[in-house]
Amino acid sequence: MSDTKTHAPNPELAAHAHVDAAKYKEMYAASIADPAGFWGEHGKRIDWIKPYSQVKDVSYDFGNVAINWYGDGTLNVSSNCIDRHLAARGDQTAIIWEPDSPEDEAKHITYRELHAETCKMANVLKDLGVGKGDRVVIYLPMIPEAAYAMLACARIGAIHSIVFAGFSPDALAARVSGCDAKVVITADGAPRGGRVTNLKDNVNQALINVIDDTKCLVVKRTGQQIAWRNGLDYWLHEEAAKAADDCPPEEMGAEDPLFILYTSGSTGQPKGVVHTTGGYLVYAAFTHEITFDYKDGDVYWCTADVGWVTGHSYIVYGPLANGATTLMFEGVPTYPDASRFWHVCEKHKVAQFYTAPTAIRALMAHGNDPVTKCDLSSIKVLGTVGEPINPEAWNWYNDVVGGGRCPIVDTWWQTETGGHLMTPLPGAHATKPGAAMKPFFGIKPLVLEPASGEIIEGNGVEGVLVIADSWPGQMRTVWGDHERFEKTYFSDYKGYYFTGDGCRRDADGDYWITGRVDDVINVSGHRMGTAEVESALVAHSKVAEAAVVGYPHDIKGQGIYCYVTLMNDEEPNEELRKELRTWVRTEIGPIASPDLIQWAPGLPKTRSGKIMRRILRKIAEDDFGALGDTSTLADPSVVDDLIENRMNKS
Ligand code: ATP
Ligand code: MG
Repeated sequence: MSDTKTHAPNPELAAHAHVDAAKYKEMYAASIADPAGFWGEHGKRIDWIKPYSQVKDVSYDFGNVAINWYGDGTLNVSSNCIDRHLAARGDQTAIIWEPDSPEDEAKHITYRELHAETCKMANVLKDLGVGKGDRVVIYLPMIPEAAYAMLACARIGAIHSIVFAGFSPDALAARVSGCDAKVVITADGAPRGGRVTNLKDNVNQALINVIDDTKCLVVKRTGQQIAWRNGLDYWLHEEAAKAADDCPPEEMGAEDPLFILYTSGSTGQPKGVVHTTGGYLVYAAFTHEITFDYKDGDVYWCTADVGWVTGHSYIVYGPLANGATTLMFEGVPTYPDASRFWHVCEKHKVAQFYTAPTAIRALMAHGNDPVTKCDLSSIKVLGTVGEPINPEAWNWYNDVVGGGRCPIVDTWWQTETGGHLMTPLPGAHATKPGAAMKPFFGIKPLVLEPASGEIIEGNGVEGVLVIADSWPGQMRTVWGDHERFEKTYFSDYKGYYFTGDGCRRDADGDYWITGRVDDVINVSGHRMGTAEVESALVAHSKVAEAAVVGYPHDIKGQGIYCYVTLMNDEEPNEELRKELRTWVRTEIGPIASPDLIQWAPGLPKTRSGKIMRRILRKIAEDDFGALGDTSTLADPSVVDDLIENRMNKS
């Protein structure tokens, strides 16, 4: 069974934390009793051009879903993230940029420099004909220009849509035409893990399939040869040299769109999630400060890519709105070796480190030496996001990386939610390996009976997770398809926001995300989350990673199909297969005994590192003719290997 050892908050940290146990209780109760009062107060943490007089105006009624926060206020996100810090912190580092190669020099960009660069890019965009409400696609590596581009769009009221630099021309084309973008911002090439992707080539290929008058603004990153579209392509450095370094911020309504971002596509066709201006910024900034217990002078590092919502809220908007120093990393955890993350933490004295379970598992497979040879004493808080973290990986993160002294914030949230909805707070809550623990302020989670939709009260219960009311960071619509928005999130369980995730409230009233509702399997009448079987497999010392899905089984209804990636130095064999079966039986029980175990050198993952179980399900069902949208896969070639080596069911 999963490890339910409880780790008390670090008392030293708790003594000085923004929020301790008593304050959490008091603030949480206030936020639920009077949401408008609570958020009216906390909305003041950012600067408004015209202050709001209304705070909350929300309807969850299916057919009429409308979500408004701070509706009559006006503001500008870029001046909140930059200008208002200039007087007190003009010379403070806003962004530390760590390049792909450790041989290259890191950059420290001050708030004053950030202002100049953002303004120049904003003026360039204006010269290219971009105005308020126009869409701009950003397809850039993790370089400072990605942050300038986001903030430049926000400055002039343009709506950005970031596409992972690792996505294919097809995925890019779909997103450019999906929002009818006027300009694509890209770079010549993108170095990552020592290899270079020819980004501009991808853009050229993508644009051939779209409207071919889309302009392209190109950042010179590598200096490599690229194909140029005369009259449509512009070098950023050439245009910026001609542009003024001041650009007045556009006055935006609180509910004007700030960005569109497609979800990871783990479960189906990606959705163009729309976030707006005022509520999103309040929520991103507030959660960033409280969840990570961010203090002035801390260097904060989130390893996500800006192409993911985590990069939006917790590399750029949240930290910069708080006047923080945020680290941006261009590379990968294992280049040039498995010590890279920890070297970067040591080099820049990182105080808060935020990453994904997939990275933790990958690094764990390399053992402890790459970690312990670095000085990680600057770290105060560790964070994880993206998937349920299995206790094995949690314990390693806690013991080896955190030395047992750094609280782990296991933040549960979604592209749709704009910011954290559930997480332990470092100075307020105990942690348990794999639990998201407590709702953030203003979040009222409910556990429902999946079939009837009835509320399940009490503790020690499990069901589907819905949120009873709105919060400022919530998505407002699906770009161009409000009907899909209502249908996806408000039709199954009327009157609530449906998360699509399952959850358990344990005997202490703490929350555990059990995975997507789609990932629940039914074996001989027993419902179980595939995450539990995966955790058991990963707990075996020879297993690095595992993904579990159901497949049709004559007798049991569904059988348990496991894809297992072994540790670097392990060889697959029949003996080990038997051993793993016995292992899971003893860990969970005979009902969870794997029927089929396939050795998987790699698993299909989204670029943000999540396992795409819907593809694994299709392979397990021998239905690989219809794998659905695979455009968001990090490495499509792993799928061919899995199909070829799939297990025989007879
Ligand atoms: P799509 O919605 O397109 O299928 P996706 O759900 O993977 O893709 P994201 O918004 O990136 O897109 O991911 C949110 C989901 O990730 C959550 O609904 C949940 O299933 C999972 N998740 C995120 N953080 C955690 C966490 N800390 N613990 C457990 N699960 C998490
Ligand atoms: Mg989702």
